[in-house]
Amino acid sequence: MRRTLFDDVHDDFRSSFRTFLQREVIGEDGRYGEWERAGIVPRETFARAGAGGFLGMEVPERYGGAGAADFRFNLIIGEETQRAGVGGFGLGITLHNDICLPYFLSYCTEAQRGRWLPGIVSGELITALAMTEPGIGSDLAAMSTKAQRDGDHYVVNGTKTFITNGINADLVITAVKTDPSERHRGISLIVLERGMEGFSRGRNLEKIGQHAQDTAELVFSELRVPCENLLGEEGEGFRYLVSNLPQERLSIAASAVAAAEAALAWTLDYVRERRAFGQPIGSFQGSRFALAEVRTETEVARAFVDRCVQALGGGELSPEDAAMAKWWCTELQGRVVDRCLQLHGGYGYMLEYPIARAFVDARVTRIYGGTNEIMKEIVGRSMGL
Ligand SMILES: Cc1cc2nc3c(=O)[nH]c(=O)nc-3n(C[C@H](O)[C@H](O)[C@H](O)COP(=O)(O)OP(=O)(O)OC[C@H]3O[C@@H](n4cnc5c(N)ncnc54)[C@H](O)[C@@H]3O)c2cc1C
Repeated sequence: MRRTLFDDVHDDFRSSFRTFLQREVIGEDGRYGEWERAGIVPRETFARAGAGGFLGMEVPERYGGAGAADFRFNLIIGEETQRAGVGGFGLGITLHNDICLPYFLSYCTEAQRGRWLPGIVSGELITALAMTEPGIGSDLAAMSTKAQRDGDHYVVNGTKTFITNGINADLVITAVKTDPSERHRGISLIVLERGMEGFSRGRNLEKIGQHAQDTAELVFSELRVPCENLLGEEGEGFRYLVSNLPQERLSIAASAVAAAEAALAWTLDYVRERRAFGQPIGSFQGSRFALAEVRTETEVARAFVDRCVQALGGGELSPEDAAMAKWWCTELQGRVVDRCLQLHGGYGYMLEYPIARAFVDARVTRIYGGTNEIMKEIVGRSMGL
């Protein structure tokens, strides 16, 4: 079906981002494969993305941004990185634009905006969001990282893990307990910066997929951070997290649908070419039915996600709508990449085929951003259950 979500300005943005991906990420020299082996995207790629206008598009012009408060631009970046088969790069950039930036835009003081927004737009300051700890993930209110007030500083102690952009990050929005006697109301958000004494990084964690993405443990030991690094109000951190999560979950859902569409496109090319028993494998009824189902489910998901994007733009995307999109689209992604890999036969297991990487990259989307079980809890509770 024809999509009605975009205008000419979005189409132009999409085509320049495609050019950027081809030139700076895919390259002629197989550089993305190098990044997958190295486990990290070079920092200068963020700076190049910034120079191209692909970071912090929503930031007001006086801080160097385009002042484009329009999630459709973010959506295009997520879609195109999936289409190009460079999801590990896509995760780092969508985390920066879709997930971290809204906290800076909503809760920074004027002084903080001046300090941080220009670097976020240029790519000199790479961002991360640290909530998960070795002992807790879903049950955020049970976190144990503490920030104790000492004059005009906080003293932070604790460990965060599985942090996306964890090695590259310069600014880490960190969820801490400023009042350990409280659960949700004891949580605050503090920005911890590269180079602060007491801030160390563990190793770049070895994952089954998303290899080009640096995911790390962060350790804070007697880290003294000035109070002016607090984001918003003390004790309001959980409320801020909850109000930003719908956009985070929609971002994950939208990339999941784009990943499914990409898998379908690669597989259609493959099954038209590959022959068995004297005919293209796509012409077997089993293949046709499989791909008909994939196409149908993907189109249905696309329609729902596009509707959610409109709702977000109108300020009416509810937490349960975003949770529905996140769990359903990521499970769809998992089913689709699995079926598409199967249609590639043995070649589907070879990393030189994009479907192989898409398969391993997909598994985590059902886990991060809140597990799909937690998404169903949110939907269930919204019905008063
Ligand atoms: C590659 C990767 C990148 C990540 N990036 C980040 C990041 O940038 N920042 C960050 O803060 N975190 C990040 N995470 C962490 C991620 O968000 C958590 O792993 C996730 O929220 C689940 O938490 P957990 O791993 O502690 O699992 P647990 O909370 O221990 O859950 C284990 C299982 O129990 C189930 N479960 C838990 N509670 C319930 C319940 N109430 N009802 C039903 N089932 C339940 C879960 O659904 C899951 O199946 C990342 C993780 C990965 C793998």
